[in-house]
Amino acid sequence: MSERVKFFPGREVSAEAFQSGSVLLTEYSTDLKYSWASGVAISKFLNELKNGKIVGRKCNRCDRILVPPRMFCEECFRLTDSWIYTKDTGTVNTYSIAYVGTDASRLKEPLYIAVINIDGASPGMGFLHLLNEIKSEKEIKVGMKVRAVWKEQSERTGSILDIKYFKPL
Ligand SMILES: [Zn+2]
Repeated sequence: MSERVKFFPGREVSAEAFQSGSVLLTEYSTDLKYSWASGVAISKFLNELKNGKIVGRKCNRCDRILVPPRMFCEECFRLTDSWIYTKDTGTVNTYSIAYVGTDASRLKEPLYIAVINIDGASPGMGFLHLLNEIKSEKEIKVGMKVRAVWKEQSERTGSILDIKYFKPL
């Protein structure tokens, strides 16, 4: 180990330290607006979500169906070949139960967050989304079959949130 590397002990910071102002606390807000190009594959994916459909790309060499779609197969190092529609059902690949919101506040009702493998896509293909209409946390299992619950067509914007959540089948 280099002699130039020094370790400094940490110091626990209490809630009182923040309240008394003895530690620096900076709050800020911004009004930044930004945009980016989502590319051919994700643009099509988002537009089809607006139509209530999930679309992927098929690679004819490895026969995989990629969801979300990609124009390039990372297994074969070649362009994918065609669009293919999948079902709006799937299987819970993994999940997490969140009791803390994105603003670090405690949630009254937990969020159920899952990676959903989409039916009609190749194994392991899918995306992160919310689960809802769950009776009990014990109901959630890896391998649980789920179905997309879509927003009303007039409310869809071409967003992953055009699917409100997935519910147990
Ligand atoms: Zn391939």
